[in-house]
Amino acid sequence: MNERACQVVEVEPDVMLTQRGYRLLTHLGYHYIFEKSSHDRRTEFWRCRRRYICKARLHTKNGIVIKVMNSHSH
Ligand SMILES: [Zn+2]
Repeated sequence: MNERACQVVEVEPDVMLTQRGYRLLTHLGYHYIFEKSSHDRRTEFWRCRRRYICKARLHTKNGIVIKVMNSHSH
């Protein structure tokens, strides 16, 4: 078994639309909720679904995960 890097980037995440109409992104088993886009709309900012207890954030560009910030507290 290969050891898994703690931060895997540049992968194409699964994004789905929830019944409430917000976008939910799944990356490495964690769920993120769409927060906002950059001005040029190419970069999108997501925050962990458990945002009240967790500071993890994720950035995507053109639909690809480019950055994971902070670690999950759960
Ligand atoms: Zn989290």
